[in-house]
Amino acid sequence: MPAERPVTAPPAALRLHVDADALADNWRRLNALSGSARAGAAVKADAYGLGVRAAVPILAGAGCADFFVAHWGEAAELLDVVPPANLSVLHGPLTAADIAFARATGVRPVINSVSQARAWAESGGGICDLMVDTGMNRLGLPLAALDDPSVLALKVDVLLSHLASADEDVAQNARQLALWQDAGRRVPHRRASLANSAGIMLGAAYHGALTRPGLALYGGVPRADLAGHIRQVVRPQAAIIQIRHLQAGDAVGYNATFTVPGPMRVGVVSIGYADGYLRCWQAKGAMVGQGGEHLPLLGRVSMDMSVIDLTRAPDLAEGDWVEAAYNLPEAAAACGLSQYELLTLLGRRFAR
Ligand SMILES: *Cc1c(COP(=O)(O)O)cnc(C)c1O
Repeated sequence: MPAERPVTAPPAALRLHVDADALADNWRRLNALSGSARAGAAVKADAYGLGVRAAVPILAGAGCADFFVAHWGEAAELLDVVPPANLSVLHGPLTAADIAFARATGVRPVINSVSQARAWAESGGGICDLMVDTGMNRLGLPLAALDDPSVLALKVDVLLSHLASADEDVAQNARQLALWQDAGRRVPHRRASLANSAGIMLGAAYHGALTRPGLALYGGVPRADLAGHIRQVVRPQAAIIQIRHLQAGDAVGYNATFTVPGPMRVGVVSIGYADGYLRCWQAKGAMVGQGGEHLPLLGRVSMDMSVIDLTRAPDLAEGDWVEAAYNLPEAAAACGLSQYELLTLLGRRFAR
């Protein structure tokens, strides 16, 4: 007789440790750095890969009230977690189905064009947000369109614009600030909002009534002057699934790109590029052992596995866990991906 199937899968050999205290502290710190403005939170893309249904209650518990997602489907995932009136959808209403969803739920659409302003009014109108393009040429109304009667008739809660280069000290920041202030004088609104994480550090003029940090909540440091304020939140951890003893001349992994110089104890770790640990880490990545030992990556990253040098951690055994070195500013400098990519890449196989 076949054995009964287990009903639930055993725990994954891959987990994302999310430091809830660090996440809450980062929001509190960014809220304090926002001066008289309140900090909201950009929680699009599954809270930058952390897992939005876990992250949002932590942020709300710290005091955050305003949440921004990109897609309507992302708002749908949060309806039982956040009051819908505190949720904004940045992509705005593109289709009739989007508008119907906004009307049915009370989630706020961000109006990004005159045609969206008209469609929203024709559907019955009501509170919305308005995105103004101040020079990024991504989403939002150009300033020239702000005098359109359909725009002036909107009931705007948050009048927002988005900074293109707040992580640099460049003239574009002040140009965008001036255009956003101009828009604020022309369009009636309740709260003005401009700054993302980096923009918070540009000074009080950039704060308005509401800031919209994303990256820095999750441990990213987009500007040097934010370092020291922000704690690491995300730690990818993987189990060693096999130990091998290699001899001089043995090669590791696809295409034999690494040959061991002498006897070496190595560990096969359950994390690969399908998990967002990309091949760009080759010759640059490392795992950290339980005592903080530096365990360099050897050879290519495979889809589901990586191989590390265990020389400095002779006691690590099969089934033990190691952690990818993932301090975001350092990791980005090492591997060439952006801090945003390092977060949003983290795949679905992590136990979160
Ligand atoms: C993603 C996003 C943010 C957050 O930006 P960070 O750089 O991650 O702080 C704020 N506002 C808008 C419109 C966004 O798209």
